[in-house]
Amino acid sequence: DTVIFWFRRDLRLHDNIGLYHALKENNNVLPVFIFDKEILDELEDEQDMRVNFIYKQVIHLKEALENLGSSLLMYHGNPIKFFEALEVAGVYTNHDYEPYAIKRDNQIQALLNEKNIPFKTYKDQVIFEKNEILKEDGEPYTVFTPYSRKWLKKLDSSHQEPYLIQSFYRNFKKIQPVRTLSLSEIGFKAGQYDYPSKQISGKIIEQYETNRDFPALQGTSRLSVHLRFGTISIREAVKEARKYSQKWLSELIWREFYMMILWHFPKVVTSSFNSKYDQLEWRNNEKEFEAWCNGMTGYPIVDAGMRELNATGFMHNRVRMITASFLTKHLLIDWRWGEAYFAKKLLDFELSSNNGGWQWAAGCGCDAAPYFRIFNPYIQTQKFDPKSKYIKKWVPEFQEIQYPPPIVDHQFARNRALETFDALRKEK
Ligand code: FAD
Repeated sequence: DTVIFWFRRDLRLHDNIGLYHALKENNNVLPVFIFDKEILDELEDEQDMRVNFIYKQVIHLKEALENLGSSLLMYHGNPIKFFEALEVAGVYTNHDYEPYAIKRDNQIQALLNEKNIPFKTYKDQVIFEKNEILKEDGEPYTVFTPYSRKWLKKLDSSHQEPYLIQSFYRNFKKIQPVRTLSLSEIGFKAGQYDYPSKQISGKIIEQYETNRDFPALQGTSRLSVHLRFGTISIREAVKEARKYSQKWLSELIWREFYMMILWHFPKVVTSSFNSKYDQLEWRNNEKEFEAWCNGMTGYPIVDAGMRELNATGFMHNRVRMITASFLTKHLLIDWRWGEAYFAKKLLDFELSSNNGGWQWAAGCGCDAAPYFRIFNPYIQTQKFDPKSKYIKKWVPEFQEIQYPPPIVDHQFARNRALETFDALRKEK
């Protein structure tokens, strides 16, 4: 009568809704983590920072479970194959809203059904999902402000209460520790990385509204990777937000907004939300793209952002907006190129937020920046990095007078972008 709990993007033993139900309803719960070969085989860097992060969390989970007299099965391969071979009394997991995951879960559901094995999945990574926040006419929101108003109206204390699992820990299946897969067995090597702490800092969040736009400060929470892999729970985060900062809460709502958009409009993965923009004539100059990737555009704030990303797997939100605007507007390079580059590099890569952020910057997304809003990198620097502290950190050779010339003149690029976007707008 063993049942499986399948960890995915919820790598924690506390306040995990699917795990709560598994343990409450059964008394032989065996957790598993699957290193999906199809996803891992696509990665180029054998010291991949995200794989290192996930691996570390999985090992933590395994140790914690072994302290409770249970263990964690580690499987490397295709999830479908794993479930095909499985004979158990049930499988529990949490919802995932990405198209790849939805397809995979549907397949697994079907094959488990054939074997009469219940497949139970739960909402865990968001407060509100799918169709829970809709307009009066039953349609999904495509504009953030009214969505967020409805979201806030619907929120009550029950949504922020943690699911207390601890009292059911006795229902983990008692087994001897199972074998630990090594990183090299899944095709990777250990790298030396400093990951952001998963402590939610009340102090940072209290001052979030004042500090959040200055990349030289520790003004944002740095919790994105933990929200991505579920090493903290969204309910904990929302509770802290309610205590300290409405503005920070609003960022957590953006996260859910983009997840909801991805679920309702999966076409955004490959196409512009506003399809008209798929007609846009991008210049797509490969040399310029390379200069952007390497932080060699001659625009210090853009270069600093790209170098921060390349060196750490993180980029401050203000600078994500500046670099994305620069690529799509100044260089007229397809937002999908930038999106793919960020996806490869960001430790906190989240399909829904990355796609939403890129489409916003390019002006083709839902509730996007208007096409004529073209960030001026110099003015952005004056406002948000007035002493060039952030720039100097990432571009040590920076000296205003000797900096290499910009790969494209700002005024020229601005006019070119306006003409290109304008032409499209006028087309019927
Ligand atoms: P904080 O400012 O402390 O915010 C708290 C949390 O709210 C974040 O951890 C994140 O989960 C969420 N959040 C904040 N801003 C946004 C936003 N604009 N959209 C959606 N969620 C948000 N965020 C990702 O998590 N993964 C991505 O792949 C990603 N790609 C982006 C690409 C572009 C072009 C842009 C403009 C933004 C992107 N963002 C992405 C959103 C945002 O930049 C990051 O969430 C934020 O910088 C993470 O830092 P933090 O944890 O200190 O955030």
